[in-house]
Amino acid sequence: MSKILFIIQVVLCVSAFAGGKINVVASIPDLGDMAMRIGGDKAKVIVLATGREDLHAVPVRPSFLPILNRADLLLTLGLDAEHSWLPALAAEARNAKIMEGRPGWIEVSEGIHVHDIPEILDRSEGEQHPEGNPHYNIGPQCGTSMANNIYKALLSAAPEHKDFLRANRDQYVRSVDTVITSLKQQSSALKGIPIIGYHEDLVYLCEFYGIKVIGYIEPKAGVSPTAGHLREIESLGREQGVKLIIHNQTQSPRIPEKLGKSLNCPIVEIANTVGAKKEITTWLELQLYNNRVLLEALKKL
Ligand SMILES: [Zn+2]
Repeated sequence: MSKILFIIQVVLCVSAFAGGKINVVASIPDLGDMAMRIGGDKAKVIVLATGREDLHAVPVRPSFLPILNRADLLLTLGLDAEHSWLPALAAEARNAKIMEGRPGWIEVSEGIHVHDIPEILDRSEGEQHPEGNPHYNIGPQCGTSMANNIYKALLSAAPEHKDFLRANRDQYVRSVDTVITSLKQQSSALKGIPIIGYHEDLVYLCEFYGIKVIGYIEPKAGVSPTAGHLREIESLGREQGVKLIIHNQTQSPRIPEKLGKSLNCPIVEIANTVGAKKEITTWLELQLYNNRVLLEALKKL
């Protein structure tokens, strides 16, 4: 190859990289939404799971592999929330950048105060939260940490866009603060109410509102309840005057309805990811939606 041709090729290669977008893949829509807000036109964001799917068990589609093969960053909830489908897929995509443990595999949980960390890692019964509760994405209080982690990831992939990314991050964090203030102002009625949840995805949401979770329909995350467990939870609910039964969009309302009837309290379907309902297209809308359905359910009491 002539020296001139070599120089031309190097220049073209550098220009293509500098002018290209950061290829971001997000495991769930919440992370994709934040990456779009912060990355703006410097990032191309593709989300793998839809909001109607259980984030612990997303059906793998053939289209995922070429998407992951081209990724610069893979945003995950982390805490092994996606362990049943994502690490193997990232390994199969033949892209060393985004394999689990590599710099492009981003766990957005970093710096979050994680709840429910088990003393012993155990997946023997299909445990879905082996490293602690990964559903911080529905806690309004976790939004700023999530946004910061996504900003840092984007910055590591494209440090030349630092000012742009930082300005977007700052603007987004201000909108998170505004929504949090408004949610707090509206939600005093939720403080201290006892509830029963279905899956252990409520801890961060309930922490924010001061809601008291007295038990879950699933005895362990992802484990179906036995008749004995349901009898225990019903008796606990009666004893503690439970006010709401809460499940998410991926779960059948059959058991919550039966329990609600027996305990004479309303059931609420919350959204545990962006996209759970057509109208929830952003992370901020997710927070407003959950606030609204919880308050509406209280009015039925
Ligand atoms: Zn879970």
